[in-house]
Amino acid sequence: MEYTKYILDENDMPKKWYNILPDMPTPLEPPLNPATNEPIKPEELEPLFARELIKQEMSDKRYINIPDEIKDIYKLWRPSPLYRASRLEKELDTPAKIYYKHEGVSPAGSHKPNTSIAQAYYNMKEGTERITTETGAGQWGSALSLACNYFDIECKVYMVQSSFYQKPYRKSLINLWGANVIPSPSNETQFGRKIQEDFPDTSGSLGIAISEAVEDAALNDNTKYALGSVLNHVMHHQTIIGLETQEQMKMAEDYPDIVIGCCGGGSNLAGIGLPFIKDKIDGNDLRVIGVEPSACPTLSAGEFRYDYGDMAKMTPLLKMHTLGYDFIPPAIHAGGLRYHGCSPIISQLVNEGLMEATNYHQIEVFEAGVTFARTEGFAPAPESSHAIKCAIDEALKCKETGEEKTILLNLSGHGHFDMTSYDKYFNGELGNE
Ligand SMILES: *Cc1c(COP(=O)(O)O)cnc(C)c1O
Repeated sequence: MEYTKYILDENDMPKKWYNILPDMPTPLEPPLNPATNEPIKPEELEPLFARELIKQEMSDKRYINIPDEIKDIYKLWRPSPLYRASRLEKELDTPAKIYYKHEGVSPAGSHKPNTSIAQAYYNMKEGTERITTETGAGQWGSALSLACNYFDIECKVYMVQSSFYQKPYRKSLINLWGANVIPSPSNETQFGRKIQEDFPDTSGSLGIAISEAVEDAALNDNTKYALGSVLNHVMHHQTIIGLETQEQMKMAEDYPDIVIGCCGGGSNLAGIGLPFIKDKIDGNDLRVIGVEPSACPTLSAGEFRYDYGDMAKMTPLLKMHTLGYDFIPPAIHAGGLRYHGCSPIISQLVNEGLMEATNYHQIEVFEAGVTFARTEGFAPAPESSHAIKCAIDEALKCKETGEEKTILLNLSGHGHFDMTSYDKYFNGELGNE
C-alpha cells in the first residue's frame, strides 16, 4: 500500500492566515445596521467584538500574521495530518485518489479551535473579562470554553435546549474547561423570557440562542460575544487548514481536482477551500464543493439576500444565502449544519460560480460515515460525513468514466460524541430528513 500520511514539521506551520476579501472578483456588500439599514460602522460593532477582530472582518490585507501566542497553542495539534484514503479507494474500486485533512485531532475534536483560540486571544489582549456565545450541538461551545480557559476569560454558553438534554457529554466537556453552560431559551435574558412566554413548548434554536448571547454581551460592559462561523474573520482564521494542505499536497506530489467540505455556516469549507479558490482565481482548474443536509439546504435552495443572523433581529443584516431568520430546521443528527444562513464570502462565491453546493439526506450520509469508519478507521462526525458522501459519489463517477481524479475532503471533526446517533442509524430509527 502507498505511503498514506503527510505530516508537516511544526516549524513549517503557516505563519499567516489568508484573507480572500481583496481577491474576491466583486467586493462583498457591507453588513447593515439592523435598526437603520445603513452600512454598519466599525465603532458600532465594538460593544460585541474586540477591535482587532472588527479590523480583520473588514481588512483588505491579503495575509494576516498569526501572533506567537496563538501559534504556540495551535502547535499542540497543528499542523494536522493529511491522509491518503487508500483503504476507502480500494473498497470503492475507484481510479480516483482520495485525500482527507483530519481536523478532528484538536482538543475539542473539530476545526473550531482554529478560530476560538484566536478570538479569545484578541479579547484577552483588549481586556475582555467575559465572553458569551451560543452553541447548537455543543462543538462551538466546547471549542470556545477550551480557548477562554487558556486565556483566563470567563465564558458563558447558551446551548440550544434540545441538545442540552440530548448531548450531555458535549455539555460536560464545556464544563470541564470551566465555562458556564445553560439551556436556551433561558430565563436569564429578556429575549429568552419572551420566547418562554410566547412558545412555552419550544426546544430552542440557534437563532434564539444567538439572540440571548448577543443581548447578554450588549448589556454587560466587560463582556463581548463570539461567533463560531459565518463572519469573515472566522473564515480567515480557518484558512490555516487549506494553507497546510497545499504544502502537504506538494509532499504528496499531487494537486486536487475537487475540494470538498461540509457546510453549516461555512467555516470548515472556507478553511480547506479558500486557499484553493485563490489558485482558481489565478487560473488553476479545480472545483470546490460545499455539502449540506437536504433538511437545511441554505446554499442549494436559500435566497441570496440581506437577512438577520438571529431570531430577535439584533445582529447586523448580512448579504448571504438564507432560508429566513425564523427558519427552524428539523432536528437532524448533524447539529452543526442546522443554521438558516451562511458565510457572506461563501455565499457570494457560490453565487459567482466559483464554488458549488450540493446536499444529501440523512441516511445516505450515515451510510457513508460507516463506510469511512470501516475502511479508514476514524469515526467521523455526522457533519463531516456529508463531505465523505460527496467524495464517495465523485470517486464512483470516476469509476464509471475511468478518470483518475484527485479528490480532497475536509474531515472537520470526529464523531466520538455522536454514538447515540450512530446507534439510531444501526437500529433503523433514523429519519431520512
Ligand atoms: C460546527 C461544525 C461544522 C459546521 O460548521 P461550519 O462553520 O460550516 O464549518 C462542521 N463540522 C464539524 C465537526 C463542526 O463541529
